[in-house]
Amino acid sequence: MRTQVLIIGSGPSGLLLGQLLTKAGIDNIILDRVGKEYILGRVRAGVLEWGTVGLIDEAGAGRRMHAEGLPHDGFSLAFDGRDHRIDLYGLTGKKVMVYGQTEVTRDLMEAREASGAVTLYDAHNVEPHDFDGAAPYVTYEMDGVTHRIDCDFIAGCDGFHGASRKAVPENAIQNFEKIYPFGWLGVLAEIPPVSHELIYANHPRGFALCSMRSPTRSRYYVQCELTDRVENWSDERFFDELRRRLPAEHAEAMVTGPSFEKSIAPLRSFVAEPMRFGRLFLVGDAAHIVPPTGAKGLNLAASDVFYLFEGLREHYGDGSSAGIDVYSERALKRVWKSVRFSWSMTTLMHRFPDTGEFGQKIQEAELDYLTHSTAASTAMAENYVGLPY
Ligand SMILES: Cc1cc2nc3c(=O)[nH]c(=O)nc-3n(C[C@H](O)[C@H](O)[C@H](O)COP(=O)(O)OP(=O)(O)OC[C@H]3O[C@@H](n4cnc5c(N)ncnc54)[C@H](O)[C@@H]3O)c2cc1C
Repeated sequence: MRTQVLIIGSGPSGLLLGQLLTKAGIDNIILDRVGKEYILGRVRAGVLEWGTVGLIDEAGAGRRMHAEGLPHDGFSLAFDGRDHRIDLYGLTGKKVMVYGQTEVTRDLMEAREASGAVTLYDAHNVEPHDFDGAAPYVTYEMDGVTHRIDCDFIAGCDGFHGASRKAVPENAIQNFEKIYPFGWLGVLAEIPPVSHELIYANHPRGFALCSMRSPTRSRYYVQCELTDRVENWSDERFFDELRRRLPAEHAEAMVTGPSFEKSIAPLRSFVAEPMRFGRLFLVGDAAHIVPPTGAKGLNLAASDVFYLFEGLREHYGDGSSAGIDVYSERALKRVWKSVRFSWSMTTLMHRFPDTGEFGQKIQEAELDYLTHSTAASTAMAENYVGLPY
């Protein structure tokens, strides 16, 4: 088998890239090691920058997002018992869209199926080969048989634990990493959100986030110990803890109900440099991870896709390699700015085990400054809605 671009990974970055390429008449095949239903069962991101919304539209998969997604003009920073609104639209003229990653993935999968482009699920032991030369190929196993697909380029869209980054020789790649000393315990429940906008809460007991997926579905998080276990948290204990970390008006107004998903996610910042190795490109979580505090992971995957798609379109359209030659540099510039923002928001909002009451006072002073200075609020809003591509 042969294709122009072989995409490893059927997450948001692989599907978005595939759809943009297909629409531009560039042949591509997607391989994923798991099945479609498993991918659609993963509950992850929920906040889309407007640039991501535009790319999903360009990919022809935006109809349901515009009908069911929730455009947000602002969010709240809660601390010291009060709410302080960051007016995203007033400060930047831009909004964000609340629409779950699962739905984005479903819409992109449906658009791909309608286009007739090929996705091979349950492809095991996927391995990129010879990407430092002119004729790369990928092998995989299916039903006990080894297959080979030849291609012009390989897009490694296979997430943090994927095969693409692992295929790069150690001496050709540099990794930068920070592990945070806590995790997020998250629940999903069929209950109306406590507020129509997101609330990020800084509290001496730890961080909390009130988010949502729809007007009837809430996504709530509390900061927890890395060693904690989901089994230790009944729904009752979770909601008690969440209420304690919120201003009284929200704690009193909160509607609770049984959760249907509960999980603990560790927090890390990670960047691999460069993001191109000959004819292999790393895209999205395969190249970088951010803590979810700034809602940037999926959005960074989308901006990588934008840069790579531009480069590939130029290559196939004009025969120019200029775009693909600068892919890594362009993508990394934006990646590091988002890594910085996610790190700073994480540092500002969480309780760190080693900083104690002094750390709490510094955070509250910074939050007070941030919410009362137009310059500081604008800087936060600009980063939150997404820096330009
Ligand atoms: C709990 C949680 C909450 C999050 N919240 C947010 C948020 O609010 N906002 C935000 O922007 N981001 C958030 N993120 C991050 C966001 O989900 C990721 O950044 C996003 O999924 C990246 O997309 P991707 O396509 O690059 O990688 P992935 O979604 O990881 O997709 C990779 C795909 O590759 C496949 N694959 C892996 N290995 C192989 C292999 N060896 N061979 C073949 N296929 C393979 C996988 O099965 C998967 O389908 C969150 C993440 C988590 C875990």
